[in-house]
Amino acid sequence: MPRSKSLRGLGAKYGGTLRKRYSNIYRTLKAKKECPSCSNMRLRRVSSGIWKCASCGYTVAGGAYDVAPAKTQQK
Ligand SMILES: [Zn+2]
Repeated sequence: MPRSKSLRGLGAKYGGTLRKRYSNIYRTLKAKKECPSCSNMRLRRVSSGIWKCASCGYTVAGGAYDVAPAKTQQK
């Protein structure tokens, strides 16, 4: 990827820096995650911090925007 391509999710609001941060988080959110139980890449975020596997129904608590909280950007 050349540059962090901005998404149009927020329109022209909130200024460039925040939108860039939002698009990073958004991409993390939409990225495929591996299920710790069945190793399928079908883990999805149910709500903030809760991730559920669409394949085996395994539910796991994790970060708000990623399963592994360590991957989240600066606190
Ligand atoms: Zn699973």
